[in-house]
Amino acid sequence: MTKREPFVAYIRVSTYYEEKISPEIQRSAIKAWADRNNANIVEWINDLDVSGRKTRRKISNALKMIEGRTARGIAVWRYSRFGRSRHGNAINLARLEALGGRLASATEAADTRTAFGRLQMGMAFKFAEYESDRIGEQWGETREHRRTAGLPATGGKRWGYIWHQRHLDDAESVIHREWYEPNDTGLIVTNLYERIAEGESMGSVTQWLGKNGHIGTRGKPWLQSGLSRYMDSGFAAGWIRYHPDDCDCPPKDPDSTASRGALCPNRIWIPGAHEPIVPEDVWEAYKEKRAKARNTPSGNRKPAYALSGLMRCARCGGTASAAGGATYGAGKVLIPKPGYMFRCSKMKDNRTCDGVYILRSIAEDAVLQRLVDWSEAIEAEAASIPQQSNPDSSTPRQRINAARERLRARLAEIQQQLDRQTDLLTRGVIPEDSYTRERDRLTQEQTGTTAELAELDKRTEEQEAKPADYQPIIRGLIDRWEITPVETRRELLRSVLRGVWAYPKSTAPDGTEVPAYAVPVAIWEDEPRPIGPRANA
Ligand SMILES: [Zn+2]
Ligand SMILES: [Zn+2]
Repeated sequence: MTKREPFVAYIRVSTYYEEKISPEIQRSAIKAWADRNNANIVEWINDLDVSGRKTRRKISNALKMIEGRTARGIAVWRYSRFGRSRHGNAINLARLEALGGRLASATEAADTRTAFGRLQMGMAFKFAEYESDRIGEQWGETREHRRTAGLPATGGKRWGYIWHQRHLDDAESVIHREWYEPNDTGLIVTNLYERIAEGESMGSVTQWLGKNGHIGTRGKPWLQSGLSRYMDSGFAAGWIRYHPDDCDCPPKDPDSTASRGALCPNRIWIPGAHEPIVPEDVWEAYKEKRAKARNTPSGNRKPAYALSGLMRCARCGGTASAAGGATYGAGKVLIPKPGYMFRCSKMKDNRTCDGVYILRSIAEDAVLQRLVDWSEAIEAEAASIPQQSNPDSSTPRQRINAARERLRARLAEIQQQLDRQTDLLTRGVIPEDSYTRERDRLTQEQTGTTAELAELDKRTEEQEAKPADYQPIIRGLIDRWEITPVETRRELLRSVLRGVWAYPKSTAPDGTEVPAYAVPVAIWEDEPRPIGPRANA
């Protein structure tokens, strides 16, 4: 048997994205690499300091081992880990190679002893910092890791528990694991599950929570939708629900309180690492009752309306959902009218808003009227502008993408120039001071361009929207309003409307009653400010 080649493993946990790859994952990947490649890890160097103060020294220690011939090379999780920036990577690599050492990546297949392998490594460096595919890939690995550790797919507070976040103890250089500890609201949580298991409705327990001043993890009174989501997740019963990334189940029904995952047959339930506060038999009985409620037509699955999910309460700015009403017909016969109106969800669920009621027919008429107004305004504007002054017929998405591409290309160029400067310096072609000057100039431009790119990423398609972009949809809606199926109409309206704000009825100074009215707001318009949750404020 040939002797295994000695390598130093260097593990780094630092910046935002990289922090998501735990040292344990990096460690096991490097171990596996060593086994596959007949290498022996003679030393593990952990650079777990988020501030990066120790990075330079840690890498120096690794390089000393190369110099002293106790190791042939350095193994990392990804090439991009070998330094704190792409720039630092290049310098460290130059130093390593000057000592005759080799850099190996545990997860990127490139033999850096060949010309092609070196090209591959160069590419890995180049794109490491902003290639989103790679970030997505790392995120997937992390999700896998969370699942294995019995943690929910996304961290964050859970009602009934104290969330202890993963954190780094600087003094001891250890990472404390993330975990959930039951807190003293546990008894209330258990009680809610029992009440629903015994037949009480979700709406009734939501209102009970509101009346008794119980609030959710975000410090706000509970809404029925949020409470249902939390309770259906089964977290309090010790379960963690994973929904497969590539699942092809239909999207969430906006009129149902059930989440997409809750209705999906492909969801995966696994026992969590946390302590359950709801007994298993209560949880089973709860699930049974909830499944029954979902199959009851008048229960959680209301019929869909064109404005479902779009209505907003003008008092609080929150959502307004469809509700039934009833009128007395001939002979005092009560006629139920499902979806007769929309009402503020906060008013209904926890009374933190005095809310609004608005007839569905009034809201729908207002939308149709507004669509006609917009369409006419767009036509009028198009007619008043000479053709050639409006040559930009691209969509908002295309315009944003083009700007993004331009900035990314510039970033790649800057990085190339930085490399070239570093290369010239290490080969002794240029003196230190001219290198420093050029580096500072490039770094400054790099910072500016990166900030611009970040700013662009924050901007959404909607903010770039021009009314004319929506004219085809608006015309289609007006012309075929009655014959378009409700779901299609709703989808089309969602692409044009920010929402429809419902204003409560009021009394004018002269004593006349002003009925409740609706104000549709387009994607290209700003949201109106809430008028305040209380009627007599
Ligand atoms: Zn699914
Ligand atoms: Zn409201």
